[in-house]
Amino acid sequence: MKKRYRTLCLLLAMVLLGGCALRAPAEAQPFYEHTFLELFDTVSKIVGYAETEQAFRETARQLQAQLEQYHKLFDIYEEYPGLNNLKTVNDRAGREPVTVDRELIEFLLYCKETARRTDGAVNAAMGSVLALWHEARSFSLENPDRAYLPEQLALEEAAAHTDPEDIIIDEQASTVFFADPLLKLDVGAVAKGYAVEQVSRQAPEGWLISVGGNIRATGEKPDGSEWKVGLQDPSGSGMTHVVRCSRAAVVTSGDYQRCYTVDGISYHHIIDPDTRMPGTKWRAVSVVCGDSAAADVLSTALFLLDQPSGQALLDAFDAEAVWTLPDGTECFSPGFSEFLAG
Ligand code: AMP
Ligand code: MG
Repeated sequence: MKKRYRTLCLLLAMVLLGGCALRAPAEAQPFYEHTFLELFDTVSKIVGYAETEQAFRETARQLQAQLEQYHKLFDIYEEYPGLNNLKTVNDRAGREPVTVDRELIEFLLYCKETARRTDGAVNAAMGSVLALWHEARSFSLENPDRAYLPEQLALEEAAAHTDPEDIIIDEQASTVFFADPLLKLDVGAVAKGYAVEQVSRQAPEGWLISVGGNIRATGEKPDGSEWKVGLQDPSGSGMTHVVRCSRAAVVTSGDYQRCYTVDGISYHHIIDPDTRMPGTKWRAVSVVCGDSAAADVLSTALFLLDQPSGQALLDAFDAEAVWTLPDGTECFSPGFSEFLAG
């Protein structure tokens, strides 16, 4: 009931804002920003144009509430009262089918399809392997003098429990069951982009939503100009490129995100399913794609794949990308330069 009320308010706000955007001259509409820190363990930002700051804040808070709902559903570390989320699923689905919201069923079907389409490069069923890396990273960041890598044997054993086909989804009953009791989910490669995509479809025209750098624009700004998104230089604090983006998503995966050091060597968070170690082919990959969920999948997949396999995926998803090699040189997909600003 509460959700339906929220949706109604949001729709109302969208209609009003949409109307204003058409009527008001562009320069009369200031843009506003709404930033929050508590979702998906990262910084989120909503940017948009509205006739008044109050109108902007009202809609931005409704979008934030929707993002928060996805955050709770996809959380593998914490449970919330009255909600069966992915932590509930990870804790119980190895023993019995767990009833979850339709929203979560849709998402898990998407995760299984992702594993198929990327030929296992992006596999949400790798939770057991990723948990070992997560534990090692968390401990090592807090205790740098005792920093360690996961044991190879433990990684190998965990890797035996990562078959996405063992995630058994009963759409009729709305349940999830793990055919392998040691399987665990980790949706870090997909969750933010998926949530941003769902929420952006409810956002007014010409707004921008960013969750930890998963950026999605919902159309040109009211003055007809495009949004511009800077791509971070993987070896410094500057930018490598500025990308034009009107009704599209821009997402980056990089070896400078969520990393830690053992014996002077940096280990990051994107794990190659073949080696069970951080991928080493690229420093970063940025993807431009109409759909933010696909952009998130693709940036992680391309980070792990060789360039021809990555390009085949880009073609299948109608997306473009820039790869940064370990020596800092870059490689563009055929249509990427069309998105460069200036
Ligand atoms: P992203 O930043 O979107 O590239 O996703 C990286 C996150 O996805 C990591 O922090 C892990 O939680 C998870 N992850 C790492 N490697 C993989 C993989 N090969 N397949 C699925 N998820 C992964
Ligand atoms: Mg990703």
